Amino acid sequence: GHSRPRRLFPRVSTRFPREAMQTRVSVSRAPAVTSRVGAQPERILRQHAWAARTVKSASSAAFSITTRRGPVVCRASSSSPGPIRSLFNLEDIAKPFISAKDTLNEGIASFYDESSGLWEDVWGEHMHHGYYPGGAPRDDHVQAQVDMIERSLEWAGLEATESSSSSSVRIDRILDVGCGIGGSSRHMARRWPGCVTRGITLSPVQAERANELAREQGLENRSTFQVADALNQPFDDSSFDLVWSMESGEHMPDKGKFVNELARVCAPGGRILIVTWCHRILREGEKTLPEDELQLLDRICEGYYLPRWCSVAEYARLCADEGLVDVRTADWSEQVSPFWRAVIRTALTWRGFLGLLRAGPATVRGGLVMPLMHEGLRRGTIRFNLITATKPLS
Ligand code: SAH
Repeated sequence: GHSRPRRLFPRVSTRFPREAMQTRVSVSRAPAVTSRVGAQPERILRQHAWAARTVKSASSAAFSITTRRGPVVCRASSSSPGPIRSLFNLEDIAKPFISAKDTLNEGIASFYDESSGLWEDVWGEHMHHGYYPGGAPRDDHVQAQVDMIERSLEWAGLEATESSSSSSVRIDRILDVGCGIGGSSRHMARRWPGCVTRGITLSPVQAERANELAREQGLENRSTFQVADALNQPFDDSSFDLVWSMESGEHMPDKGKFVNELARVCAPGGRILIVTWCHRILREGEKTLPEDELQLLDRICEGYYLPRWCSVAEYARLCADEGLVDVRTADWSEQVSPFWRAVIRTALTWRGFLGLLRAGPATVRGGLVMPLMHEGLRRGTIRFNLITATKPLS
């Protein structure tokens, strides 16, 4: 099988000292906290900090969390009666143990480990927006998702490549960066019967399921999937004719490194196609987005394990910086606008609702963020963008 990514906090147990218990620490949270620590250290630590802040009417409270590297003792105290101000920040204490990258990638991996089964049950094998021409609602959402793949290929000028005459690109080797459970890869494997696809994801559960579906669909000889980081790919330079990233770029903490890796593994003459969430292009005179728009994006980042957002203009610049040519971009925000309403509707069915609860806390949090995606697209803060570029022959 696939090896799981390294867990920094494999087992953490919480011990609230008696002193703390007597001061009404929210002990009921402790078991829930304990069970989740292995997956999301940063978030759990935040919850511990929260629990400590709920300590009331006492002069001091302390608890420790035990990590494999030893116990971390935490204290809160106050000189006057009333709510205790937290004198520590657990995240600061934990910083030496966690690098930012591990935290984000671990969060992404456990989020998709936890939620992919539910998504597949309700929506199927594609984990991306559907394409709704002109923004008009349609009911065949899964077909809309397949259309998104087809329309993207068409927009990039790749749809006619099977005849080989109308395009200079031959698609024999495809890389699916951030492959989910492999829906795009298998679709393209069927579309180009000669091609071989490789997919990478941070989630071991997704990689395993993607390979299983490839076996079920008789594609295991041409479509394979593995756990790997898009920012540090296990592939040689110039290995692929099409480097495809469908809605994974938003997870990448270093967009420059991301584009650099896509360009590195792309063969000369090959194509890169990124379909991703961006924030709007800044207006003239704007240095950043205004605070309210940033706050909306921040809340979405928490729910979906996303780092800082960028605009499509930044992607285009990064492609040019890499020496890529024929860089083109598009904005399909209108074409995806009905999508989130449909997702929310499925989450509000009993099946969807119970599914969210059963899947786990990260999935529930993801569910709570759905309306914000709808809101962000409606307000124009969030854009649904495409970027394509060619790696020059020399
Ligand atoms: N492209 C798929 C899945 C989109 S969901 C589809 O359209 O169905 C986002 C995917 O990006 C997840 O599979 C997640 O594991 C992956 N991902 C996020 N950050 C990644 C990284 N640094 N390296 C590899 N995969 C990553």
